[in-house]
Amino acid sequence: MTTLPPFRTGARRAETGTVTPIEGIEIPYAVIEGAEPGPCLLVTAGVHGSEFCSIEAALRLMRTSPDAIRGSLVVLPTLNVEAFFKRAIYVMPQDGKNLNRQFPGRADGTLSERLAHWLTGEVFPQADAYIDMHGGDLDESLAPFTIFPHNCERSRRMAEVFGLDIAIASRGGGYSVAAAHEAGVPAILPEVSGNGLWDDALVTRLTDGVAQVMALLGMTNGEPKPTPAPDYVTMWVPAAPVAGLWYPAKGLREPVAAGETLGVIRDFFGADLATVTSEKEGYVLYTLTSLSVNAGEALLGVGSLWEGAPA
Ligand SMILES: [Zn+2]
Repeated sequence: MTTLPPFRTGARRAETGTVTPIEGIEIPYAVIEGAEPGPCLLVTAGVHGSEFCSIEAALRLMRTSPDAIRGSLVVLPTLNVEAFFKRAIYVMPQDGKNLNRQFPGRADGTLSERLAHWLTGEVFPQADAYIDMHGGDLDESLAPFTIFPHNCERSRRMAEVFGLDIAIASRGGGYSVAAAHEAGVPAILPEVSGNGLWDDALVTRLTDGVAQVMALLGMTNGEPKPTPAPDYVTMWVPAAPVAGLWYPAKGLREPVAAGETLGVIRDFFGADLATVTSEKEGYVLYTLTSLSVNAGEALLGVGSLWEGAPA
């Protein structure tokens, strides 16, 4: 199949299979439709193929019974299958690009650009809401957070009910959720775990969050469970100025002051090549856990108070 089955037919069903939107890419899917009409929630994972926690969470969602929901739940659990089997970090191995920087994509571009274009043009517009689950790549550890487009109240509300205690208001382009928001679809990007790790407790944080969003959308009975307001932040991400060995000075959630040292890049003989200092006051959201670092790679994320947070 080169296209996904229709998301809404009005008939109770659970369809699974694979779709080949571009030659050489075979993506598994599930379309679960309840007997009663309702909203359509799209859930993707494996944009980064080694973020296994998010992929396992999506696989479990694929087994949702049509009797448990109103409307449709559409799950694409492994968008980047090649990276999944190659255990590649960040990129699609076929073109070396980070799929989550290519949105909205290009019809005549490289593989990841074409995949982003297909998702933006053909998949996102069919959904009423979108969750792109991530899981902390093989070389990063993180404090669980949910990213949402800063100027979308419906997305912010989804991030709030998802239940992770940090919500990041994002202004960045190129991301899955930014493209969905541009297409008029509220969207969030929750991220749980790190270093590719997964277990039942971590996976459940993602599947529970999706259940909360389904309750918010009216796809299941009852209101979402009350959750404490998350800490609303914006994220600043310094890049490595040089290649070398990365020695972080701050741990996860540790506070940082503007001007404070975040870490040092050294050579093999212990000489300092660069000292990385914070431009922001805040705390550490995620860190690179790899000893090796290449010039231009993200080193960590610093979260700072978001002015737009609800009072
Ligand atoms: Zn990711």
